[in-house]
Amino acid sequence: MKKALNDEISECFDEVVALRRDFHRHPELGFQEYRTAAKVEEYLKELGIPTERIAGTGVVGLIKGSKPGKTLLLRADMDALPVQEASGLPFASETPGVMHACGHDGHMAMLLVAAKLLMARRDQLYGNVKLVFQPNEESDGAIHLIREGVLESPKVDTAFAVHLWTPLPSGTIGLQAGPVMGEMFIFKIKLTGKGGHSSAPQEGIDPILCAASVIQGVQAIQTREISSLNPTTIVFGKITSDGAYNVISGQVMLEGTLRYLYDGEDNTPQHPKKRFRRVVEGLCAAHNVGCEIELIPSNYTVINDAGSVAFLKEQVLPHLVTADCIQPYCCMAGEDFSEFTNRAGIPGALVFIGTGNPEAGSHHAHHTAQFNIDEATLLDGVRLHVHTALEYLSE
Ligand SMILES: [Zn+2]
Ligand SMILES: [Zn+2]
Repeated sequence: MKKALNDEISECFDEVVALRRDFHRHPELGFQEYRTAAKVEEYLKELGIPTERIAGTGVVGLIKGSKPGKTLLLRADMDALPVQEASGLPFASETPGVMHACGHDGHMAMLLVAAKLLMARRDQLYGNVKLVFQPNEESDGAIHLIREGVLESPKVDTAFAVHLWTPLPSGTIGLQAGPVMGEMFIFKIKLTGKGGHSSAPQEGIDPILCAASVIQGVQAIQTREISSLNPTTIVFGKITSDGAYNVISGQVMLEGTLRYLYDGEDNTPQHPKKRFRRVVEGLCAAHNVGCEIELIPSNYTVINDAGSVAFLKEQVLPHLVTADCIQPYCCMAGEDFSEFTNRAGIPGALVFIGTGNPEAGSHHAHHTAQFNIDEATLLDGVRLHVHTALEYLSE
């Protein structure tokens, strides 16, 4: 029975590749996925799956199982990146300056083919599969879908997503419970001193000297306050002031990024954001410099639910790979799948599907002009989606 299904999935190889290549040829940036959305809708409608538009270019399809039960959300992201493709592939982007350089073309193809196989097995499903094609993952697509009710009617009980991942070799799966993708905040710090003549620094308050302390001082957070086993990076990318070579400036702006993998409570003193504020404010007080700190969320830590990970390892992954092909994995890159899981409180998990293979030319980093995936691994994603749904929505 299971073998037969996996054989049937294998027979979908040409179709999943063709879909992926079509998306790859026609990449669209976040919230501009018009052609992409139309293509997704057309495919689902042909299968008889009703669809709804959400957040402009998002598409939600609903497979209603023949028996009542829970609702499983499977997400594929749709957006490409502002990158000029230099892969040399015959199906390279036909849109100058835009490229599927993160594998989202593959994510959509995998979920569409999985939808086809699941639709044909509605009689085995106790509950519903909500197929979510999400725009603008690279920035902030998920939150818009949630605000427009993607988790309601029917109410979502669990959510899963996959990411094709070139840092992991083809044939392997990266999966672990807890934090798996980094949280990033952009910080902007305005330091206000008192300008003056540089011959008499005692008459002014020098925010540049304070800035130097802040830049040095916050590094203690990652090297002395947080375990080196919990990655944290604080990087200043831009410094500007209103001074001149012989003028003590009145104001300095510091901008940068704060990234970490943290799964504790948001409002505790141990949170990297709280530590950052404490250290910056303390140093500014010591320098008698006024400070305003703005922390702008970019994306939140993706935290995989332990129960969902156990479910995948015990009931789903054995359909795909042997146990030795599964490795614990986390990285500092950002993903807004966090909005569905730890932010909205829906238990679920994000699975990394290894697609790195020098022989397939898919050993380049994500977001680079040479990026490519190993198309042989597209079937891993189809299998993962199909078996996740069949197992989760079994009797
Ligand atoms: Zn990306
Ligand atoms: Zn991505």
